[in-house]
Amino acid sequence: MKKLLKWYRASKRSFPWRDTGDPFDVWISEIMLQQTRTQAVIGYFERFRNEIKDIEALSLIEDDRLMRLWEGLGYYSRARNLKRCAQVLMERYEGRLPEEQEALLSLPGIGPYTAGAILSIGYGRPYPAVDGNVLRVLARYFAIKENIRSDKVRKLMEETIASCYRDNKITDKQEIRDLTQAFMDLGAVVCIPNGKPNCEGCPLHQNCKAHIEGLSDVLPYRSKNKERKIVDRTLFIIRNGDTFLVSKRPNKGLLADLYEFPGVDERFDEKDVDRYLKEKGYDPLQIRKLPSSKHIFSHVEWHMDAYEIRISNWSLPLKENEMLSDRKDLQSLAIPSAFKTYIDYYGLRESE
Ligand code: SF4
Repeated sequence: MKKLLKWYRASKRSFPWRDTGDPFDVWISEIMLQQTRTQAVIGYFERFRNEIKDIEALSLIEDDRLMRLWEGLGYYSRARNLKRCAQVLMERYEGRLPEEQEALLSLPGIGPYTAGAILSIGYGRPYPAVDGNVLRVLARYFAIKENIRSDKVRKLMEETIASCYRDNKITDKQEIRDLTQAFMDLGAVVCIPNGKPNCEGCPLHQNCKAHIEGLSDVLPYRSKNKERKIVDRTLFIIRNGDTFLVSKRPNKGLLADLYEFPGVDERFDEKDVDRYLKEKGYDPLQIRKLPSSKHIFSHVEWHMDAYEIRISNWSLPLKENEMLSDRKDLQSLAIPSAFKTYIDYYGLRESE
């Protein structure tokens, strides 16, 4: 532990959420960092914190504004859970993140890892925060040959860190803060996931079993992820001059409550598009194929074809979830990055 601490204090990475002493920063950054690269999070975090000063402000933010702040990070349920959680914190905890593990775990969107990060980094309390990086480091250090995706291994690692704090009587808050972040940094820059870990530069190499046994390239062992489902989609970008038709997605499921260009979960050629739109009552002036694109979610991949459909007027009544937007309106709507190809194609974010 001492060597790890020394290494961290000499070489720690600098982030806007680090060393602020604010558990709110730990919470927001950890939620953003789930599924997103650290470097990519920095700009989002700064924009978010410039606009949302505290838990009360988060509890009151307009949904559309929140989604715009989150746009590009993906996994939008994380943002919705942040707001729901802030509302619970205002109702039950006077706008403060609790310092008890059980209370944190009862809040929307907070699991064992995030609770551990808030407690250890935010409050300097001796709780483990075991994410994928930390799991990998420990699995190599102890040469664990079981699947690190299993609950059993995760719990074992959590207990290992907790007992390490107990056995070494580590109670100093700054030391606990630094140790949690030291494991994270070590996993991110030394004991790396893809490729050879830098064992010679690692403060743990003298006692690391994987290094001693020549297994650092082989471990950890992970079960395979489930294969993603491929969904073919066709998008209809229906426009009259600079006015576009957009629709709001249902309030449950993938990309809930966000805006999109309407579409179907099928692959259409130009004739299919023409037939489909005429059935819906449109009279297209021109149908033009746009570039195809792909977006990868955790369990699904969208393979998208898109068509620009020019019409001469909006004679059809709009459905409840549909609206007409000009370029300016489109800039303020939360349109997920799944549609980035088309947002970029029309330059709909260029004024930002
Ligand atoms: S010695 Fe190598 S394998 Fe062991 S923890 Fe350090 S970087 Fe990882």
